[in-house]
Formats: sequence, C-alpha cells, structure tokens
Amino acid sequence: MIKKLLIANRGEIAVRIIRACRELGIKTVAVHSTADADSMHVKIADEAVCIGPAQSKYSYLNIPSILTAAQITGVDAIHPGFGFLSENAEFAELVDEHGFIFVGPTSEHIRVMGDKIKAKDTAVKLGIPVVPGSQGEVKTVKDAKSWSKKIGFPLIIKAASGGGGRGMKVANTPEELEEAFNICQTEALSAFGDGAVYMERYLGRPRHIEIQVFGDGTGNALHFFERDCSIQRRHQKVIEEASGPSIDEKTRTDIGNVCVKAMSKMKYRGAGTIEFLYENGEFFFIEMNTRIQVEHPITEMITGFDLIKEQINVASGDGLSAKQQDIKINGHAIECRINAECPETFMPMPGTVELYHAPGGLGVRVDSHLYAGYSIPPHYDSMIAKLIVHAPTREIAIARMKRALKEYLIIGVKTNIPLHLKLLDEPDFISGDYTIHWLEELMGLK
Ligand code: ADP
Repeated sequence: MIKKLLIANRGEIAVRIIRACRELGIKTVAVHSTADADSMHVKIADEAVCIGPAQSKYSYLNIPSILTAAQITGVDAIHPGFGFLSENAEFAELVDEHGFIFVGPTSEHIRVMGDKIKAKDTAVKLGIPVVPGSQGEVKTVKDAKSWSKKIGFPLIIKAASGGGGRGMKVANTPEELEEAFNICQTEALSAFGDGAVYMERYLGRPRHIEIQVFGDGTGNALHFFERDCSIQRRHQKVIEEASGPSIDEKTRTDIGNVCVKAMSKMKYRGAGTIEFLYENGEFFFIEMNTRIQVEHPITEMITGFDLIKEQINVASGDGLSAKQQDIKINGHAIECRINAECPETFMPMPGTVELYHAPGGLGVRVDSHLYAGYSIPPHYDSMIAKLIVHAPTREIAIARMKRALKEYLIIGVKTNIPLHLKLLDEPDFISGDYTIHWLEELMGLK
C-alpha cells in the first residue's frame, strides 16, 4: 500500500502525477530546483523539498539529494515521470535498495531496454519484428562496410545508448558511410559516454506507431492499442493521435497480441511503450521505453483508463485493473505539444507568462503547469503544455483541436500554437496521409 509518494520530476508530468495521487488519497512530495521554487508542482504537492540548483545535473539528476528528500519526508514510493532519471537503471536499483517502491519496471528491464543493441536482440528473442540490420555492435569502418553490403543503402547508424532523437546518422550512399560512421561513433561517446553503434536499414516512408503496454511483473500483460506519432521534427514528436489513422482492426489486434505475448514472456512490470516504424503493412521495432510517455493522455482519452493510477496500482502490488477484453477504443484523440518557442525558427523562448487562459469545453483537456505570472525557467525542456482533445470521430477531433488552439491564450511568451493551427489545415493531415518525414518536408527542411 502506498500512502505517500515522491515525484522525482517537474513541470506538467509532476502535476499530472500529483493529480492522480490526490484522487487515490496518496500524499505527495514534490522535489524542485532553486529555479522551480514557484513552479505549479511545488504549489500543489502536500510537501516540497528543494534538492539543488537550477542545473538538472545538480537537482533533478542528483540521486543522493532525491533519496535524502525521500528519507526525510518518509515516503513509501518514488515516481520518476519521464525524462530525467526515469530510465536510469542505477536509480531504480538505489530506490529499491533504500527501501522505497520504484513506480516503474525492474532495474534489469530498464538496463536491457536502455541499450538499443540489447533491446533489439531481446525483441528478436521475444518474437517482435525488428528493422533488418547489423547483428549487435559495429566496431570498425571495415565492419560497417561489410554490413552495408547486406543492409543496402540508405542505412542509419545509431548509438546503442542514444535517446531523445540524438545519436543517429543516415548514410545515403557507400561514399557517405565512413564519415557518417565515424561521426556517429565520436558523438555517441561524447554525448552518452558509450561509443557503441549499430546499423539498420533506413526506412524511406514509414509511420511511427507505438503500442502502450502494461505488465504486472508476474506474466500478466495488457495492451492499450496504438498511437501514431509520425508528426515529428528532428525525431521529436509534435502531434500525436490515437488510434492510428492508418491501422485497421486486424492489424491493431495482431500487433497488440505480439506485444502482449512478449511482455508476458519477459514478466514486464508497469507501463511501457513499444515503438515501431510501420511501412507497407509491416511493423519494425525500434525501441522500448520503460516509463510513461509524454503522449499517454491520448490513450487515456480513447480507453477511459487512468494510466498513472494503473502504474501506481501495479507498483503497490494490486495488479492490473482490467482484462484485455475490457479495454475498448472509444472515439479519437489528438495531442498537440505546446512549446515555448519561436514558431518560425523553433528556438526555445522562455519568459514570463503575463496572461493565461486555457481552453475548455466538451472533450478538451490541458495538461500543463502554467499560470499567469509564471516565469518559464530557461534550464529545462521547452514543452509547457499538452493540449488534448477527444471526440467521437477524427474529423470532429480536428475541428475541436482547432477551436481549442484558438481559445488558448498564453500572453508574454511565443509558442508553437500558430504552427499547430497551420498543420491542422494541411490536406495531408486532414486525410491522415503522413509519414515521419512529412513535417520536415512540408517546412522545406528536407
Ligand atoms: P530515440 O530513442 O532517440 O527516440 P528512436 O530509435 O526511437 O530514437 O528513433 C527516433 C526516430 O528516428 C524515429 O521515430 C524515426 O523518425 C527515426 N528512425 C529511427 N530508426 C530509423 C530507421 N531505421 N529508418 C528510418 N527512420 C528511423
């Protein structure tokens, strides 16, 4: 039984977790940096502890500080949210060793899935289809050349420890291979402290389809259908929708079953997302995220399940709250990620929110930590809100999102709301005909 929980995160996801805890009657402890003393999660939690200065390295990534805060406030559990320490196996291990419940999978599963080479290998063993590519790490240019003959061009070189859309290089021709390989290896070492890279076929026109899964840690597993997150810029998601406009009933059931079988076999615990590229009716595994995702609300809207509560229930040892046949799709949901950035150049633009008015009405949800007078600190991610709509059909959801975006007032900082409005009017978006390259092609970036 969890009575008190510490949220090792900030921003809208910390607020989201506090909201779930409050409904469950669980007391909450917020941790924050000095730059976040006025942040919403600090204001609405039952208790708050300052864990260090603005730089994440000394606060939100500072494991001893977070564990000390947990100890002095007497919590039972720690929820890591997403980003920061959420996929840090050592953190999960230490949380466990200090006698707290980690709201997430075992450190062993985090470790395996955090290494993309091991993750791919595990996926193959679990019967999940993967992108054809090198077997394991590619160590030298000579090996890269030899693998390229089997894989063909274009191909992509990826860092085993990469994440957040970084640590990837495409080689379109044999001439580009050596340089791309060397750059990727060097960058991987400097950015992630691990120079291991691997290679796979570069898919030309895929969609990014991900499956939300849950396990109870003893072999029971569920899926909550798919999300289409193809609308990306620099491998970062911009708009997501559920269900996927390109996925039919049979395809949905088949891939869902593949994922459930795999999670059951590995005795996965908690929330996870299995990410695929989907091209010409085929799924290719790219990675598994062992945490809750930014875009989880769209799955909540179409299924009616509270995925944060589900995480907490599983962590408490209460098991999964549903059977697969109880999970059904109701209507359509879309999420627009609202960033404090210049809509033309995408440069982050922190500042003070002078006036704030969030949209409302039927089928509109805003997950955000903003309020009038709030100063967005420059030290963290530029995402300041998630605007989510739910409607009986995709067509109504698009109309609803447009009216909600127009109602949304965030005065004082520049946001990408104008970009979202433009994208929602594009014929390809309206027809659901887009790939992972669509946004960059539309903006002339490719
Ligand atoms: P990250 O962990 O950084 O998010 P992923 O492996 O999930 O990395 O890949 C992120 C994005 O990169 C994908 O959504 C896709 O747009 C692109 N990508 C990755 N692998 C391939 C591939 N083999 N072919 C084409 N695009 C790819």
